[in-house]
Amino acid sequence: MPAFATRAVHAGRADLNDLGLHVPPIDLSTTNPLRDVLSGGDSYEQLASGGLPGDEHSHVYARLWNPTVARFETALAELEEGEQAVAFGSGMAALTAVLLGLREGRSGDASTDAGTLAHVVGVRTLYGGTDHLLATGLLGTDTTFTRPDELAAVLRSDTALVVVETPANPTLDLVDLAVVVRTVRERAPRAVVLVDNTFATPVLQRPLSLGVDLVMHSATKYLGGHGDVIGGVIATGGPRAGEMAVRLRRVRAITGAILHPLGAYLLHRGLATLPIRVRAQSENAAKVAEGLLAHPQIARVYYPGLAECDPLGLVGRQMDGPGAMLSFQVQGGYDAACRVAASVRLVTHAVSLGGVDSLIQHAASLTHRPVAGEAKPHDSLLRLSVGLEDPADILTDLTQALDASA
Ligand SMILES: *Cc1c(COP(=O)(O)O)cnc(C)c1O
Repeated sequence: MPAFATRAVHAGRADLNDLGLHVPPIDLSTTNPLRDVLSGGDSYEQLASGGLPGDEHSHVYARLWNPTVARFETALAELEEGEQAVAFGSGMAALTAVLLGLREGRSGDASTDAGTLAHVVGVRTLYGGTDHLLATGLLGTDTTFTRPDELAAVLRSDTALVVVETPANPTLDLVDLAVVVRTVRERAPRAVVLVDNTFATPVLQRPLSLGVDLVMHSATKYLGGHGDVIGGVIATGGPRAGEMAVRLRRVRAITGAILHPLGAYLLHRGLATLPIRVRAQSENAAKVAEGLLAHPQIARVYYPGLAECDPLGLVGRQMDGPGAMLSFQVQGGYDAACRVAASVRLVTHAVSLGGVDSLIQHAASLTHRPVAGEAKPHDSLLRLSVGLEDPADILTDLTQALDASA
């Protein structure tokens, strides 16, 4: 298998030479001509039930399947060392499809499991939107929240899904995935393990290679990398990879959650520079973390590259590097944190992350606003996504903002 950087540039492009193309084409057709009623109906049946089109099939209708989206899926699956991937209109749409898929009967008949709540375990810390979706039970799931060291105690023989995030948003907590997989297999053999790999990206961490079943991305973040596309994707691996991909595509077709082909094109293009961006941004983040530690207004820095933030020694073992996300607590609590966010000039005060430019935000007020009190981030905590600017300039800006908060 070629090295990661090589695959990042070439994945999902294997057929381009034969097509006489250098760049992937964008297929914007919403509908596709049908040869005759019988074969059109067969194609519809195949795609609406979560299958892939055969060479003889029409693509019928772009809510069911789209070739530009499929190219991005092929590429992402290859980078995640998965079997397949299924792309959605956002990260939350991707998680929604996973949750709805838990309730859908294997036959494709949603009525078989209707009425039974699927038991889900949410391993905190989680992204605020994920925590919120699980806590509401909106999609017919019953979630028990836990912490990594108490996971074994809350797993049940009927647990259907375990959701884990590492590094976690926004605290950068690291979870040992090999331990999670072992614990879940022992205590909840039916359960599927999903890891949100948004912060690490496949450049730094490939959970499917550790026995995880599903990897989720908010593709909006590092995969796109330029702040101009909303998208989500699930990569599937392990013995149930094929069945899970079919189920996800079926839910996607029924609920209408497919990624737009223009977004798919941009996300696919983003993958080519993913390794170089993530590595350069990580180097910047390490310098910014170190610089912040020296500032008197800083109470605490959370960054996986700091020894105290990686007690299990997962960087270098589970992860190939500490990444480009960090958080810090400001002396002076909520008011001081607000002053920092309001005082940055080069860094943008905005939610989202993973793009080429640095962003800062107050997690408890924004991305983690809907999270229950006991799991809400500290109100002096700011989350920083370190971009590709010169790290000295990022530090200069943060320093003046911290000075202004004193
Ligand atoms: C942003 C984010 C999500 C949600 O993704 P959207 O694309 O905004 O729907 C999920 N998980 C993590 C870790 C995120 O940062």
